[in-house]
Amino acid sequence: MNKQKKYVNGKLVSRGIEWTDYTINAIAGCKHGCAWLMTDGKAPCYAETTAEGVASSAYPQGFAHHYYYPERLDEPLSVKEPSRIFLDSMSDVGGFWVPDEQRRAVLIDMPKKAYWHTFQSLTKNPKGLLGIEFPQNVWVGVSTPPDVMWGHALSMRQKLRKLEIDLQTLREIKVKTKWYSIEPLSLDCAEQFRNHGLDWAVIGAASNGAKKYQPNPDHLNKLLEVMDEQHTPLFFKGNLIHNPHREEYPK
Ligand code: SF4
Repeated sequence: MNKQKKYVNGKLVSRGIEWTDYTINAIAGCKHGCAWLMTDGKAPCYAETTAEGVASSAYPQGFAHHYYYPERLDEPLSVKEPSRIFLDSMSDVGGFWVPDEQRRAVLIDMPKKAYWHTFQSLTKNPKGLLGIEFPQNVWVGVSTPPDVMWGHALSMRQKLRKLEIDLQTLREIKVKTKWYSIEPLSLDCAEQFRNHGLDWAVIGAASNGAKKYQPNPDHLNKLLEVMDEQHTPLFFKGNLIHNPHREEYPK
């Protein structure tokens, strides 16, 4: 597992993924091929950049490949303090290529064994999680559609349609805590989130390495209004310049 907050001489120097305490990737690699179209070119996801850059020795067959490390499933047992653990920062456990027994080992068996922790999962394929009866200590999240997926550019209409379908699928998933990662906020999607029934949302800007690309302030304000009407706990990422500075979690 990777601890996200890094300290030097007792001073916090890096927060990593801000909304979690640890990442664990018993399943690694991803075949969704997401990318974002920035004003100055195409950016792949952070996980792909990492897997094909600094972490390339751990991904000998590239990022668009399926890796399984069952020995990692016991790692949460050695952390005694109740923590938030992100299950798939370098993969998508809901991905169509993931064998069912591996998905169940990660999403059901490990969380049941390490019951004192909270396990956070995030997918771009919520259909892959239908039919699973999740333990209470798992939060299932979906992330907003990218500009390119499976090697194809998505039109604005296709992205908004996918968001609507994914939100409907999330409603059908048998899990207590449902959330959305709207990172990056690159769509005018406030209306899609009206009456969403979510327990939590994370909102952030787009980034490509050190470069940050800020969302349209109008889209952000409209989304905030819709979320506040529904009293949704919100976590704003530090990469947002116009940041309402809220770091809330599901009730
Ligand atoms: S689903 Fe996530 S990990 Fe997979 S390519 Fe898309 S952004 Fe990257």
